[in-house]
Amino acid sequence: MAQPSKNRRRVNRQIAHQHAGVLGGKVTKLVEVIAVVEKVLAAVRTGPSKTEIREFPMPDIPDDAALMKMEVAGICGTDVKLYKTPPSSAPVIMGHENIGTIAKAGREFTRRKGFREGDLVFVEHYVACGKCEWCHLGQYRHCENTDWRYNPDAIRYGYTSAERAPHLWGGFAQYVYLPWNAVLHHVPNGVTAELAGLVTPMANGVEWSLFDGGVGYNSTVLIQGPGQQGLSQTVICKQAGASLIIVTGTPKDGARLEVAKRLGADHVIDVEKEDPLARIMEITGHKGVDVVLDCTAGAGTVPVLLGVEALKRKAGTIVVQGEMADFPNFPIGRITVKFITIKSARSHSFKACELALAQLASKRFPLELITTHRFGLKDVDLAIRSVGGQGVKDVIHASLMPWE
Ligand SMILES: [Zn+2]
Ligand SMILES: [Zn+2]
Repeated sequence: MAQPSKNRRRVNRQIAHQHAGVLGGKVTKLVEVIAVVEKVLAAVRTGPSKTEIREFPMPDIPDDAALMKMEVAGICGTDVKLYKTPPSSAPVIMGHENIGTIAKAGREFTRRKGFREGDLVFVEHYVACGKCEWCHLGQYRHCENTDWRYNPDAIRYGYTSAERAPHLWGGFAQYVYLPWNAVLHHVPNGVTAELAGLVTPMANGVEWSLFDGGVGYNSTVLIQGPGQQGLSQTVICKQAGASLIIVTGTPKDGARLEVAKRLGADHVIDVEKEDPLARIMEITGHKGVDVVLDCTAGAGTVPVLLGVEALKRKAGTIVVQGEMADFPNFPIGRITVKFITIKSARSHSFKACELALAQLASKRFPLELITTHRFGLKDVDLAIRSVGGQGVKDVIHASLMPWE
């Protein structure tokens, strides 16, 4: 364990002088063995809202694995939750939205996966088994191998214990270990690592609004919550041809709602300054919207209740995150009468990631309005708190740069 130093990688050179042997009683050969032991610095969550900088050994990279030098780890609302109330007491290197450069790739890794040293990549947090039905369907986000809620041996970047060799299972570190079953994407030319740090919320945007919500040409959409997630949904819905995008927020979201407008929202509503349902009905000529996307955090049942009422008379769709364990007085009657479809937001598929990367490469939207802040490794605590609305003000998307 050590504090971060200016020499980010500490190289210990051990020079061992060995007498190789005596040949025929005459020759004594001096062999110099140089062993280079490199250490990797990582920010480790050691308890609720507690972080320590620790050193880990540089892992050996087998033929079918690779090592990624971290460039940017995106921080999202999930980090805020996992940091405040960790799902286990194990030490964890957090960071599940990871962009990096392949620093070392085994021959078999390159042969099988097509990624080689020097490639800039996005690595998904899911580590698929590659054998089950979900994996064969390309829906490895549901694979048991990566389902930490169900499987204590699951591997998922940002969630798996740092005690498990080779330890580097999270992006808040200088390096990340990539086994053969890591899921990688090439970052397109012209997309910086920092911009690529937005791929996760963008991919969720594609998955939730297009694939789950069915948003397309002429759709009308209500997006609740103007954080990085809601803003990414705004961009994706706009590009998909939505004819009306309404984004809601609260008084603390003033700057974010302005960004929402710049990114394509037709109307923004501060739900504490005006009655959001009345305003939505006024905007839509009392028709309601086709699709509601809940991108709020810590708002309880309110966004779902508003969503149910804001949807059109029949057959609207609402995509929910299901943050709370219970929903007292759930309006099941209203939902069936209105013939509403409720879908569960469950991050992203491979296709959604590829489309998100293409979106970033298109440069059609001023996405630098979202990538507002950068933090170094020693500031992980501040970075997560800032994304959660404490610490640094007006953070929309925080990029954790492990080498700064
Ligand atoms: Zn995330
Ligand atoms: Zn699987």
